[in-house]
Amino acid sequence: MLSMKSVPILDLSYEINELKPQLMQVFENVLDAGTFIMGPNVKKFEQEVADYLGVKFAITLNSGTDAIIIGLLAAGVGPGDEVITTPFTFFATAEAISQVGATPIFVDVDEYTYNMDLLQLEAAITPRTKAIIPVHLFGHTVDMGELLRIANKYQLLVIEDTAQAFGAEYQDRKVGTIGDIGCFSFFPSKNLGAYGDGGLLATNNEEFAMKAAMLRVHGSKKKYYNEVIGYNSRLDEIQAAILRVKLPYIDKWNDGRKLAARTYKELLSGVEGIVLPVEESYAKHVFHQYTIRVKEGRRDEIQAKLDELGVSTMIYYPVPVHKLPVYQSMEIQMPKAEKLASEVLSLPIWPQIDRQIQSYVSSKLIELL
Ligand SMILES: *Cc1c(COP(=O)(O)O)cnc(C)c1O
Repeated sequence: MLSMKSVPILDLSYEINELKPQLMQVFENVLDAGTFIMGPNVKKFEQEVADYLGVKFAITLNSGTDAIIIGLLAAGVGPGDEVITTPFTFFATAEAISQVGATPIFVDVDEYTYNMDLLQLEAAITPRTKAIIPVHLFGHTVDMGELLRIANKYQLLVIEDTAQAFGAEYQDRKVGTIGDIGCFSFFPSKNLGAYGDGGLLATNNEEFAMKAAMLRVHGSKKKYYNEVIGYNSRLDEIQAAILRVKLPYIDKWNDGRKLAARTYKELLSGVEGIVLPVEESYAKHVFHQYTIRVKEGRRDEIQAKLDELGVSTMIYYPVPVHKLPVYQSMEIQMPKAEKLASEVLSLPIWPQIDRQIQSYVSSKLIELL
């Protein structure tokens, strides 16, 4: 009988141990250089990440949330505008829309990809619609071809929330570079994470890039000559240095996650009472999460029992955005998102997770079902 102390949902100690000598070196370099804001690592990282993504402009920011807010503002979205997004996402997607004074309009999701159901998208478009924010949830690419077809038909901006999908592809293109603007997060648990907050706005549109770069530093192109009301939303030099160490590993790490997803699929296929995540043919899924669905109202009970057995799982997300207290007054129904919120369960996954740990997790889950 395999015994295991406890399995976390995410274990960063593997990468930290592997990279520690390199990280200590860059910390020392930054300390010695003594430039902590907008230094050489920020500039170099922006170039390296633009090259990796295959995009003209990459603007580092303080967080993924700021990337969406600044992206909306740079694209001219504001009061009176409607922005369509998914109700099954992290709150920040909708929060950013409200933060710029626009109105979030929700389109229900597909229960297999967990992403916005594009068959329902056109019905949500009104004369006030200005933009769509698709979210590549859990690392599964939205069908960007179909989404762009609809966006182009109505001349809508597309701002991709790529917080959970760094390195994921639609056909052969990196997501976050397909719409008008891509927004990334370097929150520590994301596929490419800093060791603090961080974010990035990617775009091929020079005007949007210039505006975002100004908004990042108090609305100024030239220091002390402020032109618009902006923000202080810079990525720290130390975080940029960390991200430069980590960027060369991202493909290997995403491959590790894909392999882990294949292993779970092999271990859990055909098990009754659960539904496994899908990967559509147009997508290169990067499995930010491995999220299953537990049927028949048993999700919370199964999660509690797994926890007793030392297996940590998470519920992303227990309440769909339109049902959160802040948006409750909308009084709308999104049946698929609501169903998913009651069924989803994210299992432990990280790039270096091994088969033994996954077998343990899977066997405990199967015993409980
Ligand atoms: C993490 C996340 C964000 C926000 O990123 P932060 O860097 O934490 O501000 C936005 N959208 C989604 C889908 C996320 O997962």
